[in-house]
Amino acid sequence: MNEALLKQKVDGLVADMTVEEKASLCSGADFWNLKGVDRLGIPSIMITDGPHGLRKQSGSADHVGLNDSVPATCFPTASALASSWDTGLMDEIGRALGEECIKENVAVLLGPGVNIKRSPLCGRNFEYFSEDPFQGGMMAAALAAGVQSKGVGTSVKHFAVNNQEKRRMTVDAVVDERAVREIYLPGFEKVVKEVQPHTVMNAYNLLNGVYCSENRWLLTDILRNEWGFKGLVVTDWGANNDRVKGLAAGQELEMPASGGLTDAKIAAAVMDGSLDEGILDRAARRLLTLILRNSDNLKTGDREACDMEVHHRLARKAESRSAVLLKNDGILPLPEGKSVAVIGAFAETPRYQGSGSSLINPWKLEGALEPMRSRFGSGSVTYAEGYHPMGTEPDDALIAEAERTAAGADIAVVFAGLPEVAESEGFDRNHLEMPDSHNALITAVAEANPETVVVLSNGAPVTMPWLYGVKAVLESYLGGQAWGPAVTDLLSGDVNPSGKLAETFPVSLDEDPAQPNFPGGGKSVFYAESLYVGYRFYETANRPVLFPFGYGLSYTSFEYSELEIFGPDADRKVTVNYRITNTGKHAGEEISQVYVRDAEAAVFRPEKELKAFTKTALASGESRTVSLELDGRSFAFWDKGRNGWCVEKGDFGILVGASSADIRLEGSVRFEEGDELSAEAADGDAAASDWRHPSRALFASAPADGRFAALIGREVPAAEKDPAEPFRINSTLGELKRRRLGRVMFRAIIRELRKQYGDDEKTMRMMEAMMEDMPLRNLMMMAGGGMTDAFNDGLLMVFNRRPLRGILKMIRERPRRGPRSG
Ligand code: BGC
Repeated sequence: MNEALLKQKVDGLVADMTVEEKASLCSGADFWNLKGVDRLGIPSIMITDGPHGLRKQSGSADHVGLNDSVPATCFPTASALASSWDTGLMDEIGRALGEECIKENVAVLLGPGVNIKRSPLCGRNFEYFSEDPFQGGMMAAALAAGVQSKGVGTSVKHFAVNNQEKRRMTVDAVVDERAVREIYLPGFEKVVKEVQPHTVMNAYNLLNGVYCSENRWLLTDILRNEWGFKGLVVTDWGANNDRVKGLAAGQELEMPASGGLTDAKIAAAVMDGSLDEGILDRAARRLLTLILRNSDNLKTGDREACDMEVHHRLARKAESRSAVLLKNDGILPLPEGKSVAVIGAFAETPRYQGSGSSLINPWKLEGALEPMRSRFGSGSVTYAEGYHPMGTEPDDALIAEAERTAAGADIAVVFAGLPEVAESEGFDRNHLEMPDSHNALITAVAEANPETVVVLSNGAPVTMPWLYGVKAVLESYLGGQAWGPAVTDLLSGDVNPSGKLAETFPVSLDEDPAQPNFPGGGKSVFYAESLYVGYRFYETANRPVLFPFGYGLSYTSFEYSELEIFGPDADRKVTVNYRITNTGKHAGEEISQVYVRDAEAAVFRPEKELKAFTKTALASGESRTVSLELDGRSFAFWDKGRNGWCVEKGDFGILVGASSADIRLEGSVRFEEGDELSAEAADGDAAASDWRHPSRALFASAPADGRFAALIGREVPAAEKDPAEPFRINSTLGELKRRRLGRVMFRAIIRELRKQYGDDEKTMRMMEAMMEDMPLRNLMMMAGGGMTDAFNDGLLMVFNRRPLRGILKMIRERPRRGPRSG
């Protein structure tokens, strides 16, 4: 259906619909389906996770990956994919995901996730791309474009400033405006402007005191008015707070179902005049547009195009282009004809994806042991388990066996990393270490055989106390269902490693800029580091890292030369040309990066910021000129006073590097004419002048000593160390545990969960963390539809020491409907 026809049809339908029908479209039919309207022949469509594979559930539904889903291709997760720096590959994967959606009749895939890795500890970092908004935005846009080229929608998530799992549904991210604009929004902005995703998913958390689900500034002023977003906004699952407020602020669809309660609230608000019917009409129009267009696309989509074997091969290629070679003392690629001891249970039971809502049921899964045997000859490959794949405690007998196996071979390859229980959606890590079982094993094996290589499987940075004792380290991240053969391709040299880190690996948490305020206490988290996320901090403050942003090795070497800079032209375009030469013996690919430095900034700015990159394939000895373009925005900062982007007059450094810390060529460009700065910016943004010299000491003390208040331009919200009473609908179960009743309730919930998941340590850890941080409003929503506000008030009365009246009210207002799935 063409757009004009679609518009005409949608307008006609909206005109024919009752207020109740329009309101009913604004929440899900169940966990994954939107409502249709039978009377008008409007079908229901399915929207489901995402992001690196399809998680379509046909039986019991849930939003944390507990129940079964149809077999699908599990691609490497975003932290791996980001390390490919390969937008073409992202597009290809997006297309494959789109094909699987068409095959399964899924109208929208819930991804990509483009949140910034503010802290290496965020439990969901494996699902996100980068600490850098430009890098993450480029990858996400390419992936979303691929999916949507198949007529399947995407849902860019979680909008916005959703960077931790601790108190994920109620935490208030307190962030200065420049950091929001320069760090936390540009990834979303790129996807919205370049791809027009069919949907954007708002985040659970609050941003500067307002729930993202009802944040007009985010959802209307920025997303619609500034960026020109044409799709619809869907809540994260259970992120709706006040339905009518949310709709008025620009959030069209509440997911999952709410038992009709919130639809009734919308209809009532229209009837009593507190909500303009025009707002509901607009939402209904956006919903109908999505439903009609995407159901139509599914009807005409080519189901035969989906070839799962092709997707498996793509998953293998993706992982082999994404894994990052962190260290190589000449031992890799593994020489032919040598015996290899494969050590570590992950070789057989791979850790290839993360837990939670992105959990895919892979239709095929290949570990590394078999591919290693077939590549190097089963006679030359021995194996020892080394540790229990799900456990964290060292097992002396397994380690002793591993030592013997390693000592008996020419080379030992240890597969290690983070077990599932260590990182997941739902909770953050509280340290960077790998479990003792893995660290002890690597140390023991490296002592038994100095020719030791380590292959890591983990979704986020770890520390490596054994680093200097091993010869090579390959960071494979969470490599998807074809992880094993892909890693074998790299170890053998059949594929030359070409990934580079899209995040910094810190030496320790004591150096991490977010750590003084992560995950925050009470209800808030203070982003006192402002713009200094990841390498922006390390490079500006000149602090050591384990491995820098943008870093990765190859089996060959590259030289950079002949930097030429042209511009700026009348459109403020600057062209950066340079030459890359493969000076080694192998064909390979180099990711070169262009950073910009504002040499004479009026306001505080990081030492360097990534503004362009490319991946160049070169045969041994080959040389090629790379040409990259920077636009005006590459030089701009957000001028709060002008409420706009501002390029300052003066010189800018152009730094071309193999990583953020390895700048190979340097030049400069001059803007003779800049934008007029606001008085505040021209004055050097005096209130924030301390941020010219960022340090962890500043970030640690600023929230309490008045400097963070000066940066955000308002009082710092009280930390609320003690949960405020009286309890409210958004008090968490963890807070309610202050009452005996809360403790009893919590224990009862956990007991029930244990009955179902008691044997599964990782699921219990995730569920307990989620329950602790779940607001009462969500528990009631999850428990079943039909919980009225009056019933909830009754429950709150009980918690607020008015048990009798509360219980009476609860009895009077008890839910009349049975619980629903979820
Ligand atoms: C997650 C989303 C996901 C949704 C549906 C939520 O808990 O935050 O990323 O798409 O569930 O499963």
